Amino acid sequence: MSVSAIETQQTAGRPLEIDVPVLVAVNQPLELQRLVVDPPQAGEVRVKMTASGVCHSCLHAVDGTHEGLPMPLVLGDEGAGVIESVGGGVTGLEPGDRVVISWAPGCGRCASCERGRPGVCLDPPPFGGGIDGTPRFHRDGEPVYHYGPATYAPYTVIPARGAIKVPDAIELDVAALVGCAITTGCGGVLNAARVRAGESVAVFGCGGIGLSAVLGAVVAGATPIVGVDVRAAKLDYARELGATDVVDASAGDPVEQIKAAVPGGVDHAIVAVGDASAVEQAFTSLAVGGTCVLLGNPPTRTPAVQLPPHQLLVGERTLVGSVYGSSNPPVDFPRFVGLHLAGKLPLDRLVTRRYALDEADQAFRDLAAGELARGLIVF
Ligand SMILES: [Zn+2]
Ligand SMILES: [Zn+2]
Repeated sequence: MSVSAIETQQTAGRPLEIDVPVLVAVNQPLELQRLVVDPPQAGEVRVKMTASGVCHSCLHAVDGTHEGLPMPLVLGDEGAGVIESVGGGVTGLEPGDRVVISWAPGCGRCASCERGRPGVCLDPPPFGGGIDGTPRFHRDGEPVYHYGPATYAPYTVIPARGAIKVPDAIELDVAALVGCAITTGCGGVLNAARVRAGESVAVFGCGGIGLSAVLGAVVAGATPIVGVDVRAAKLDYARELGATDVVDASAGDPVEQIKAAVPGGVDHAIVAVGDASAVEQAFTSLAVGGTCVLLGNPPTRTPAVQLPPHQLLVGERTLVGSVYGSSNPPVDFPRFVGLHLAGKLPLDRLVTRRYALDEADQAFRDLAAGELARGLIVF
């Protein structure tokens, strides 16, 4: 029996008291608070976290650009760990299993889930808690809500469908990135854009998801691969991870710069920022027959996108929205882990900095300052 399996026998089934970074209000620093974490209910598992990525979606919660979220809130949509206990009726998972967490467990029954697309589930578990939407975190008897799988908690409770087993060969800290950035970015390139070898790709926004899209474009055999951002550090990361060209969008019209590098425009434009003008620029940079894929999560009050309809019609161009890289996590997580283990998807190279739990707030400040490819909170 493994050490983790012995450990889990001592805690399974009991409420735990642990320190968790909590967002108490918009634009406030995360506070490390002592919370009670309930045992898993039917259909749920409790996971002892190994690592959690610091995702831009959570930054939207911190800075208030995603409105209407319940508070106090435990953040984190990207992580990996070890199953500590399982609730009733859970099959195929047991304590000690190493898992990457999917933030889109889906209902498992609707038409979208049936076709392997839980990211667009028609009846997803309600936001803010466990499988029924009620929180498993408490403080002084008051509820503390979950932001998706709430991976910043050292122990979190999630629907069992969101726990995807991964092989022992992959380190769980880097595997955490498969839970959001890698699956969204690589999935956007491979599943949504369906990039083929030799086609050209531009990636707008070279944060964690955009850089994952660059990695996905390399896997697909795309060339050229153009990274677009306004920050020099991000463009350096893009080059290091496989971009053949970079465009500094702060130094003039990015569409003109892309068309100078790739005459006629690109076959695929991946938008890894939630920004209307980036969608417009990405669409305008497309070659005839090209596809623009929106991956970035737009803030609540993002203005409407304006597109020239003749470019859509005459050039037979396509604009696609893609949630979670149009992925099916039980299929795609092992696929991306397998590519990593084969040396074809160096996801460890995305990690710019590691943080301890009490540095979670610093991780957000670094993310907001544009200094990170991906930050990782390691428990
Ligand atoms: Zn995310
Ligand atoms: Zn569903």
